[in-house]
Amino acid sequence: MKQEDVTYLPEIKNDQVAQQDFKNSNYLSILFSEDRDFLISPTGNPVKISELQGKVVGVYFSANWYPPCQKFNQLLVNAYEHFKLTNHHNRNPGFEVVFVSSDEDLDAFNNFRAGMPWLAIPFSDLNTKKTLNRMFDVEGIPCLVILQPDSSYKGRDGHGNGNGEGVIHEGVDILHRYGIQAIPFTKDRLLELQEIEREKHENQTLTNLLTTQNRDFLLSQSAPQPVPVASLKGKTVGLYFSAQWCLPGVKFTTKLIPVYQNIKQVIAEKGNQDEDFEIVFVSTDRDQSSFDSFFQTMPWLALPFDDMSVKSLTKHFNIQWIPSLIILGPDGKTVTTEGRNLINLYRDNAYPFTEVRTTFLEHQMDEAAKCLPKWQSHARHRHELMLVSEGSGGGAYICCDCDEQGLGWAYQCIECGYEVHPKCIKPVTAADRTV
Ligand SMILES: [Zn+2]
Ligand SMILES: [Zn+2]
Repeated sequence: MKQEDVTYLPEIKNDQVAQQDFKNSNYLSILFSEDRDFLISPTGNPVKISELQGKVVGVYFSANWYPPCQKFNQLLVNAYEHFKLTNHHNRNPGFEVVFVSSDEDLDAFNNFRAGMPWLAIPFSDLNTKKTLNRMFDVEGIPCLVILQPDSSYKGRDGHGNGNGEGVIHEGVDILHRYGIQAIPFTKDRLLELQEIEREKHENQTLTNLLTTQNRDFLLSQSAPQPVPVASLKGKTVGLYFSAQWCLPGVKFTTKLIPVYQNIKQVIAEKGNQDEDFEIVFVSTDRDQSSFDSFFQTMPWLALPFDDMSVKSLTKHFNIQWIPSLIILGPDGKTVTTEGRNLINLYRDNAYPFTEVRTTFLEHQMDEAAKCLPKWQSHARHRHELMLVSEGSGGGAYICCDCDEQGLGWAYQCIECGYEVHPKCIKPVTAADRTV
């Protein structure tokens, strides 16, 4: 044997052992397969997984055929490239994305990947892709799971569990919410962003929410002139996020109008000059004419169509769906983001939407429920319905009669998964019985 051979062998062996150890014990271990210790680069070259050591890694589940993925992908590319450009001298720990494709064929995978500046699990490695999907319970795409270098979960050999410490499943939400600032998703960065957001909410005023540099007024149906934002000071204000293309939005609007009018009337009868209630429509309509025709049906105020503040308000209140009703107190601070639910439950009684008020109403509802029969027949369901509360398996539900959300007390048919508000029970008439 030559001298050379003996000196080289142990080193190779050590390297193999080191790779094996790394693979078994590391937070990146889930990216390996039995016979693969690399990922592929944008140009198709292998990159050793061990090179990612110490970086925060986003495991990115996505597919080219699905438009929401394409849209999110652009957001992620921008944020990723911004981070690479601005992370001078590696002030932050590194960040890398690993694409796990749900594409149907290699062509689609290659097409999608052409627009990605990061790494990928090879398309042919179905096994790893399946394992990762299962491990992180991926139910919808796009999905971005963040692994911190100190993430603790066992690898695939140790019965993988994707809910370990340091694993963040909500990468998509976080990026939507904080934009490019979210990267590199370190715990410190996320805490910092939460703190900034908390301060923003603490310093929130009607003026900084509802005005822009060029606009300090709101539109009104009834007043001939625009209404100054300043005139809302000291009022309880509902910000109503809705749009005409959204059917629940149209339905809720017809419900909200009498509630609004009743609240205004009750306040007027009190004769307290300092108290008032107003609603401001924040429109996500698709064009000026649908905005106009929708706003025409509303007795309250509105931000102009396509105003700059619509986007910032949507972001500020993290509006995920419409219709949504955010209630601001007389000081401009948020009273509740649950305005819609409260109106569905209590109508105009919900005013002024404060915790004191809702606690009182909940108590009242509990008292009233004591007088409700345990079982009731309902004209629109063929079985008897049983009264349930949150404590007895009620919880939040969608009323099968009025399609709005309910909370607390409900009449339920467990067998059919049928639930209605107690107030939505329709007595069975003689006509119903003969059907
Ligand atoms: Zn109902
Ligand atoms: Zn039933």
